[in-house]
Amino acid sequence: SERTLILLKPDAVRRGLVGEILSRYERKGLALVALEFRTIDAGTADEHYAEHVDKDFYPPLRDFVTSGPMVAGVLEGDQAVEVVRALNGATDGRKAAPGTIRGDLALSNRENLVHGSDSPESAAREIALWFPKLS
Ligand code: ATP
Repeated sequence: SERTLILLKPDAVRRGLVGEILSRYERKGLALVALEFRTIDAGTADEHYAEHVDKDFYPPLRDFVTSGPMVAGVLEGDQAVEVVRALNGATDGRKAAPGTIRGDLALSNRENLVHGSDSPESAAREIALWFPKLS
């Protein structure tokens, strides 16, 4: 069994899609082991997105993820990292396959509702950042 970090970004909260999205993960069989409302500052955004801070798309992404509360959580289950990324769908909501969260519910490359860790190593780093007390 494996753990992964999920973020329901500010668009998910503003659009009232928190229940819909969490329900998809739960129905798949993944277990929530942490869940919290969080509003982050620019410094935390930079830490979370360390690999993207120098990219052209980052400044508006930082503004977006600091624009309102997010729901942060940790999901646990067999191959949770890969399973969550499959449920999330491709980064660009316009290209994401129907049946995925982004494919069904998002129409943007930036405001794409969700984040899921991209590897077990990223998951360990991100869980330590977001939920330092979770052992
Ligand atoms: P995440 O890491 O959030 O699960 P991802 O792995 O599909 O998404 P990354 O390439 O890691 O995507 O990009 C991180 C986030 O940056 C994306 O989820 C999206 O919000 C934003 N983003 C990525 N590429 C672009 C882009 N070309 N234009 C605007 N925003 C982008």
